[in-house]
Amino acid sequence: MQVKQSMGARLAVLAVAAVLTLGMGHNSQAIAEKDDFYQAVNQETLKTKTIDPTEVSWSWFQERSVKNTKQLETEVQQMADKTGTYKKGTPEQKIADLYTCAMDTKTRNTSSRAQLNEMLKPIQEAKTTAELTQALCDFKEKYGEGLLVDYGADRKPSAPVYMSRISVNDTILTKYDLQKEPEKGLWDTYKTYIADVLKESGVDANTAKTQAAAILAMEQAWAPAMTDSEKLNDVSVYNQIVPRKDVEAWMPHMNGKKILASWGLDKEKEVLFFEEPYLKAMDAMYTQEHMPLLKSYLTFIVMHRYAPYADIKLRNIRRTFTMKRYGIQQPRSDEETASRMVQDLMSYELGQVYMKQYGSSVAVADVSQMIRQIRDIYEQRLQYNTWLSPQTKAKAIEKLKTLRIFVGAPASGDTPLIDTMADVIAPKQGGTLLGNILHNGRLAYEQEKKLLGRPFNPDKWMGMDPQDVNACYIPENNSITIPMGILQPPFYSVMASQGTNLGGIGTVIGHEISHAFDTNGCQYDKDGNMKNWWTKADYEAFRKRADAFAPYYDRYTVGKEKLQENGKLVTSEAIADCGGLSAAAEIAKGNPTILKDLYHNFAVIFASKYTPQILRFIIQMDPHPIGSARVNGALSSMPEFYQVYHITANDGMYVQPQQRVGIW
Ligand SMILES: [Zn+2]
Repeated sequence: MQVKQSMGARLAVLAVAAVLTLGMGHNSQAIAEKDDFYQAVNQETLKTKTIDPTEVSWSWFQERSVKNTKQLETEVQQMADKTGTYKKGTPEQKIADLYTCAMDTKTRNTSSRAQLNEMLKPIQEAKTTAELTQALCDFKEKYGEGLLVDYGADRKPSAPVYMSRISVNDTILTKYDLQKEPEKGLWDTYKTYIADVLKESGVDANTAKTQAAAILAMEQAWAPAMTDSEKLNDVSVYNQIVPRKDVEAWMPHMNGKKILASWGLDKEKEVLFFEEPYLKAMDAMYTQEHMPLLKSYLTFIVMHRYAPYADIKLRNIRRTFTMKRYGIQQPRSDEETASRMVQDLMSYELGQVYMKQYGSSVAVADVSQMIRQIRDIYEQRLQYNTWLSPQTKAKAIEKLKTLRIFVGAPASGDTPLIDTMADVIAPKQGGTLLGNILHNGRLAYEQEKKLLGRPFNPDKWMGMDPQDVNACYIPENNSITIPMGILQPPFYSVMASQGTNLGGIGTVIGHEISHAFDTNGCQYDKDGNMKNWWTKADYEAFRKRADAFAPYYDRYTVGKEKLQENGKLVTSEAIADCGGLSAAAEIAKGNPTILKDLYHNFAVIFASKYTPQILRFIIQMDPHPIGSARVNGALSSMPEFYQVYHITANDGMYVQPQQRVGIW
């Protein structure tokens, strides 16, 4: 499943995990558009909308996404009602049987512990670090998942072919959570969680408590060596190619040579890898002296990872932690949990179901036309650009002209590279939820192994699923994807005014196209290879403009706690916001009525509110500005916005001209 994960890390998506922005009720007085456009436009919405007790946020992205999920839940349940009647291997059989396994709490409760114990046995019985390494290698081979370190297939940055990407497992808390505890009490919550899980592995309460404290301390010792979120979103960091032998040498205690050989990578000259300090910090702990700690850590990690598929007691222990951590008030029902699990694991198949029910060829044709229109506007803007040399300009236009466009859903027969649930064993044949997850983990790993060295097909639909309420740009094949799921109000409607659609899906399209020329996208050529196509002077001129975004966005604070935006973290997304808004607004140029509709709906689509816990998490990790900063930040740099709303130096939306930002 690495392909999905690694691609996901680099998709320039519109919204992360369907969550965005703030939106604290403010006071009841009318807020002027000139002072705070986001609040003025959204104040009624933010007053009436509430965060569902099972969710971490409210936004239009979230609300529409929940609607799509509920619609598919009905479909899943109807299929499950007919479980046992479908032909083996069909999407219906897999969906129905997987859902049935997930809902069968009795079997989950009676079978999953034995399965987990079998998985943990080699780890717990290891006496030396060499035996522990052998257990880690066997775990990957059997279940397809690496512990501590892992690898998968990814596109080579310099050529359209798959190569291996090695990664170090993420910790459950972020680097920032481990270093600073921005959420008071989080470390205690986490320690309680670790101890509760370890108790389930058979350890007594006191030992579990001691081990939990030691595990947190170990992760805290790693934290300074972990990658900053700014760097995680920087492709020049993320896409480093290093000699395979170097990576092996950075794991002397873990025996990197053995691990890579067990993965079949001993012939590779180079691999993708960027986490040298973190890997070294982890390896430094991998000693005989730390064996008890390492074994309890790995026991915890395995139980944490598979808890959603295990017995209800273990599942609920993890769920309680997640709810506390993110401020979720109420757990989802078992039906909803099972349906969402099936929807996540079989998103391609359910995308087909979604299209059958809700696909609209009229909307797809209309939006495809809008994309071409905005792309033409972009081309004109590049032609008239005053700071690029003709040479770079020609390359940029070439990249724009070869942009691949995916709208609605994958073409028929365009199946995913990896079938994540290739074979679901029916309950009647002895299939269980955890058993099916492990079985398919191994099958997915086998498919992924076969990708290494194979050509990368740029014409494949890759980014999202049709039911997603989101959009993305993928630099590796120079493509934008606008799924069917986002083609609904407030983003798009065939009934909406031109300005409203331009402010919604129009700015979304412009945003994704702009990613081709943001601080990350600009490093890829038209064929998706990381190759410099800029003259030195042009690139310097670009960087100068791009560097102005960080101090500009640093000025915004969000939420009751007035958390400060991290301008550096949000730069690439903010460049896309400003570029997208400019391009969409160009179509309405000189028409204040259309422009007002456009700006208004641009503010509407980013209305959102969060639990304080998730807001703190997002501000650390998410490369998107929070909704209020996203809307006000982009608008306060648009010259036409100042004209249409007669903004003066006395208004809250005013920013001095020399401080305003904009590239495209
Ligand atoms: Zn984006």
